[in-house]
Amino acid sequence: MAARPAPYLDDLNPAQRRAVEALDGPVLMLAGAGTGKTKALTTRIAHLLNTGRARPNEILSVTFTNKAAREMKERVGRLLGQTVEGMPWLGTFHAICVKLLRRHAELVGLKSNFTILDTDDQIRLLKQLIVAENIDEKRWPARQLSGLIDHWKNRAWTPDKVPASEASAFNHRGTELYDYYQQRLKALNAVDFGDLLLHVLTIFQEHEDVLAQYQRWFRYILVDEYQDTNVAQYLWLRLLAQGHRNICCVGDDDQSIYGWRGAEVGNILRFEKDFPGAEVVRLEQNYRSTPHILGAASGVIDANQGRLGKELFTDLPEGEKVRLIGHWDGEEEARWIGEEIEAMAGGTRGMRRVGLDEMAILVRASHQMRAFEDRFLTIGLPYRVIGGPRFYERMEIRDAMAYFRLAVSPDDDLAFERVVNTPKRGLGDKAQQKIQVMARSQGVSLADGARLLLQDKGLTGKGATELRILVDAIARWNDAVRAGEGSHIELAETILEESGYTAHWQNDKTPEAPGRLENLKELVKALEQFENLQGFLEHVALIMDRDSDDDGAKVSIMTLHGAKGLEFPAVFLPGWEDGLFPSQRSMDESGLKGLEEERRLAYVGITRAEEICTISFAANRRVFGQWQSALPSRFIDELPSRHVEVLTPPGLYGGGYGAAGMAASASPKMQQEAGSDLHERAASSNVYNSPGWRRLQARSAERPVSQPRENRNMVIDATAVSSFSEGDRVFHRKFGYGEVQGVEGDKLDIAFEKSGNKKVVAKFVVDAAN
Ligand code: ATP
Ligand code: MG
Repeated sequence: MAARPAPYLDDLNPAQRRAVEALDGPVLMLAGAGTGKTKALTTRIAHLLNTGRARPNEILSVTFTNKAAREMKERVGRLLGQTVEGMPWLGTFHAICVKLLRRHAELVGLKSNFTILDTDDQIRLLKQLIVAENIDEKRWPARQLSGLIDHWKNRAWTPDKVPASEASAFNHRGTELYDYYQQRLKALNAVDFGDLLLHVLTIFQEHEDVLAQYQRWFRYILVDEYQDTNVAQYLWLRLLAQGHRNICCVGDDDQSIYGWRGAEVGNILRFEKDFPGAEVVRLEQNYRSTPHILGAASGVIDANQGRLGKELFTDLPEGEKVRLIGHWDGEEEARWIGEEIEAMAGGTRGMRRVGLDEMAILVRASHQMRAFEDRFLTIGLPYRVIGGPRFYERMEIRDAMAYFRLAVSPDDDLAFERVVNTPKRGLGDKAQQKIQVMARSQGVSLADGARLLLQDKGLTGKGATELRILVDAIARWNDAVRAGEGSHIELAETILEESGYTAHWQNDKTPEAPGRLENLKELVKALEQFENLQGFLEHVALIMDRDSDDDGAKVSIMTLHGAKGLEFPAVFLPGWEDGLFPSQRSMDESGLKGLEEERRLAYVGITRAEEICTISFAANRRVFGQWQSALPSRFIDELPSRHVEVLTPPGLYGGGYGAAGMAASASPKMQQEAGSDLHERAASSNVYNSPGWRRLQARSAERPVSQPRENRNMVIDATAVSSFSEGDRVFHRKFGYGEVQGVEGDKLDIAFEKSGNKKVVAKFVVDAAN
């Protein structure tokens, strides 16, 4: 076969080239962030195709996300200068396994049209089993069992393979329930996510002929982000590769961040044992980040023990130091980042103009996104949330908001429907139907219908008692809203408490529950910026409206976990505070495992940045109306000072102090709580000894001590009072033309010609007088 030109090889360094050209036999590429692992892997696919070693459908290549799979396919096409038709086996483990399982479903007792349950379905099913077994579901919640079963599946343990050491799990009933659950799934012709891989693994293990068929078929196997594979995935790959041994895995032990989901970084170490004679390629040149960014990242990850250890260098120009800035609180952090992004996008930051698409905010916990989303909507900064719902679209937030809506207007039937049986009140479909029928026949709202139904004794038993409690509570909340007395924040807390909604998540023992509670706290925090619940609900309605606005350039907001493998010219890393990042859980744990995984996450975060990396922290976060002071993250102390520039927070925001202000100008109580400790930490930390930091402290000390802004009533933007007045004709992108009926601060009451009366923030409308 005549060798075809392979110009794409010229773009590689010698080590990458070796990894690409070593087409036969096992290859392990073990290298730090940004060294071109993914690029080499992609080029390898192109090379396999170009040299005729394999057809597109004979290459199995596993990526971590669907997005990564799409990008990889595109890149292969670009390398070859043509679109690549049909690479059916390029995708995530899940996507690949669905296809395999559909072909061979009967081998594990399923039909090929099986359904895939999502987490909610899975939990509902487990709940049924638990109840049927007469187990107290309150003490032994279905979510806990679901977590346990996932954990076992990640380790490739089918019910018969769960080891005896797990026998005490879930009150000694775990294995048994797992078995029932699998039987039930089979009867339903259904699988859960974990089953996708596990069933295929079982098929491979029990049917040699099927395995042999795929061992021949997949002539080449490639795996990206190998450090985050779990045991089941590892065994699956090993079986497939055992024949020809043409497997190429790339990974970075320093970026292993899914240990909590069963990933085993040890898989990297086992590779050479399982595939003796493997070509091990190490890459050391980083092509992504400037020396300062790389230096900062290396400084942090150096603190981890038991690393394989890698040196990284870069030829890129020195660039900016990593920027570090402290803020008074989370809201101010969001303001500052918003302004910084605008300045960078406008080219007024003294550096090159950075497009919105080139910027990302990477958070540790998804509840951190709320402050940014609110702020960006307020100033009209386009953003997208990647890898999950936006804050106000999350299930627990929608539930909580439905309660608030009922408090403001008890006639809101959609809200009533959403929460009438959330948390569970024994008001199933039948009871709800009765309420509907009553409401419809009397032409009243569901809440009133419920009241009538109770009067008529149309509902009895536990459901009736609970329903009475609910409708009475709604009436009480509504009275409170109408009286307009007292704090709406306290009212919101009362609502969440009296409805049983907070307790519902507190009693929930699953891994997601703490996150949902955090989000609820965050929701209450969001209320602080509004005068009342109505104002807040309007704000959110506006937010949701602007959702689908346009497809232009946007800033990305995502979690650190979701940012793996990606890169951006400018990256913001907010919330670097002990307890948030590293997470409280990892700090409470005995041993270093959790903390080290957090540190790897910090490494992943910093190494996403190409040119500008900005780390920030807030001195205070308000949680349920209480100030909680926070200490800068211990990872900040680990940043080598020569790679860091401490920025001075601007005093622009009517009392905006720097983080040092926490010690210097916070309330006496807060000083007591955190001040001394901060000073101690400050004295020992190289960052705090930098000239910039001392300047910052000096500035804050000069500022008169003021009250913490407990009653800060900064509705949107104190300065953004509307310039419109009654009678003005205006235009809104979404609602069209309208006439201003009233002005309240920066909000306008507008009668729109097509969409009726609405309150909108003045920023979103333009004068349409002419
Ligand atoms: P991560 O560990 O974060 O997944 P990675 O090792 O997969 O990183 P890539 O994403 O493949 O790194 O590459 C990082 C950047 O460096 C990309 O922009 C890529 O195009 C560029 N790059 C990789 N190799 C080279 C090279 N030999 N010459 C020039 N640029 C390169
Ligand atoms: Mg990569």
